Amino acid sequence: MNLTRVEKSRITEVDFENIPFGKVFTDHMFVMNYRNGSWDDGEILPFKDLSLNPATMALHYGQAIFEGMKAELSAEGEALMFRPELNAERFNRSADRMCMPTVPVEKYITSIKEVVDLDRAWIPTKEGSCLYIRPFMFASSPYIGVKESEEYKFVIFCCPVGPYYSKPVSVFIEDTYARACKGGVGFAKAAGNYGGSLYPARLAKELGYDQVLWTDAVEHEYVQEIGTMNVFFVLDGKIVTPATNDNILEGTTRKTVIELYAKEGRTVEERPISVTELVEAYEAGKLEDAWGCGTAAAIIPMAALGNRKIRMELKPAEERSEWKKIKETLISYKRGQVEDTNNWLLRF
Ligand SMILES: *Cc1c(COP(=O)(O)O)cnc(C)c1O
Repeated sequence: MNLTRVEKSRITEVDFENIPFGKVFTDHMFVMNYRNGSWDDGEILPFKDLSLNPATMALHYGQAIFEGMKAELSAEGEALMFRPELNAERFNRSADRMCMPTVPVEKYITSIKEVVDLDRAWIPTKEGSCLYIRPFMFASSPYIGVKESEEYKFVIFCCPVGPYYSKPVSVFIEDTYARACKGGVGFAKAAGNYGGSLYPARLAKELGYDQVLWTDAVEHEYVQEIGTMNVFFVLDGKIVTPATNDNILEGTTRKTVIELYAKEGRTVEERPISVTELVEAYEAGKLEDAWGCGTAAAIIPMAALGNRKIRMELKPAEERSEWKKIKETLISYKRGQVEDTNNWLLRF
């Protein structure tokens, strides 16, 4: 693989005590091109603008997918990544659905490792900070007309990010719009899913909520996920999460939370969860906890959920123990503070 280093690192320009999320980029990026039915070897080069033909197909017809991953620094100074193969596999499921070429899992992971290793001085050391990694792919053929592109670009770049502080979220139970539907692309991390979510999110904010709790597109009765996080509830002592289907993005964090509970001998019920069931549990005083989970924020407790008819306030998050316990457990695994018997960590 070709490597062109920056002449002068920009790292000295960054205030690591105060990093704005998603706006600071490390020195290098990885770019690999798909042409004539195969990927080239890819190259690492200085982070810079891409130059694109205005007819670049992704900009018109939306063949574009991405992933979100993190690298942290261990106490011993190793870079740690959590279950990167799950992201690689999901990336390829997204690619298949969007008629895009897959990237061999091994190539996907080694390419990330090489960029992160080269820019490892950029991994923030402050507690809770990390390097956010954004692999993505888009249709790069210049062509006007809806069809599968012939050329694609796979790019990886990284952003140092500060501790993700977020207050408990209040969520609007969506009753009009949908993020995903049966037969659609909700299970893929496809760019258009996020463009389509902005308008309902804006309306939810106008109604006094932080985020949207997505529901099924037909009846708006079965809950799916919160914004870009999977969702868990504790109802009468039972932990429940919506069963995944083609409407729901299967999160690495979701999967890990379920597996961590299994280690403790607790079962997470993966099944349809209706708004009616949540309201009934709330009214019976049995909606004990609720949280969203994803790579960016790990776990964020829910403060309230509601729609135009009802607003259900949960007990204050600091007085609830479930979300806190699972968050601590999850973070201790991600930081390598617990013996890695599952081989979840990639260390380098
Ligand atoms: C990325 C994402 C998640 C969380 O997935 P993780 O792998 O846990 O980061 C959940 N829902 C949506 C819609 C997402 O885009």
